[in-house]
Amino acid sequence: MKMSFLRSLQLVPIVSAFFLLALPDAKAEKGQDSIAAMLAVMESQSPVDIRSENAVFQKLPALKFDFSSGTPLSVINNGSPDEEKTIRANVPLDAGSLKFSGNKWDLAQFHFHAPSEHLLNGHASDMEMHLVFSDSQDHLLVVSRWIEEGAFNSALDPIFSHLPQTTTEQLDIASFNLNTLLPGNLESFRYTGSLTTPPFTEGVNWIQLAQPLNLSGGQIDAFNALFPDGNTREAQPLNGRVILTDVPGFATTDPALEADLLLQAELGLIPHGDAHEIQLLDGKVMSASEPMLVTAVPEPESYLMLLAGLGLMGFIVRRRVAKEGLTGSFA
Ligand SMILES: [Zn+2]
Repeated sequence: MKMSFLRSLQLVPIVSAFFLLALPDAKAEKGQDSIAAMLAVMESQSPVDIRSENAVFQKLPALKFDFSSGTPLSVINNGSPDEEKTIRANVPLDAGSLKFSGNKWDLAQFHFHAPSEHLLNGHASDMEMHLVFSDSQDHLLVVSRWIEEGAFNSALDPIFSHLPQTTTEQLDIASFNLNTLLPGNLESFRYTGSLTTPPFTEGVNWIQLAQPLNLSGGQIDAFNALFPDGNTREAQPLNGRVILTDVPGFATTDPALEADLLLQAELGLIPHGDAHEIQLLDGKVMSASEPMLVTAVPEPESYLMLLAGLGLMGFIVRRRVAKEGLTGSFA
């Protein structure tokens, strides 16, 4: 752990340098080289396998969704059957928001992967839905939900019965109830990770809802027909990250293992953040560069959540990613 900690500290300026120097003017080929170089040193990638032995049970800040019940959607195909593309529904500004820990996040779009990107104790679901949010500082947050084959989903059928077949098609839906995307039970798994498509940039807050959504076999088949090889990135190593969950009975209850996870969280996450601005003093976390942390009132039980939130890159990097991610390639 000490080796990892020290090595990671040495890598912080390298990673930052890649972002600041390589990305802004990168042409396609050069950009790919930069991404490969970045991936070689990045350690907090998504998706991940959410496993009981890597999870800690916590009382987590409540999620308060405020979703329109009648918003227009524009649904696009951004490049099937490319495995890094998807079907994406763009949402108007102010159609949906999420508040928790004193921070407000605005929904920009939602999209789909098949099979699921996140695993649950090694198990993949048929599909996964990602609701992509950003805050006023352009930080990114993804609320993700597994999709399993089940009952016909009439709410999502306007999308799944008319999936755009090419990038030149756009499906306009006059009125869609965003609340149909959310489960009644909002128990979740939370960790800090990355985009799951290039440039795989880190500092993305992930909230994986535990309760899956259902689509019928026919609806799932319609999506799979567009992506015969799937559009899913493989699970990435946690590298010391801890997954927080308020799902009763999921996380390990072994006190020794839990203590070890807490230690990993402290040692493992410091190097991923802005080490100069983070202090860990008797459970208090402060960072002048992190609006999410500054505006949040740290409750004792949310200490680990804040720790998990420290796996973030620099402000400039995230501004750029947010802009690219929301309007561009993020899938
Ligand atoms: Zn996605």
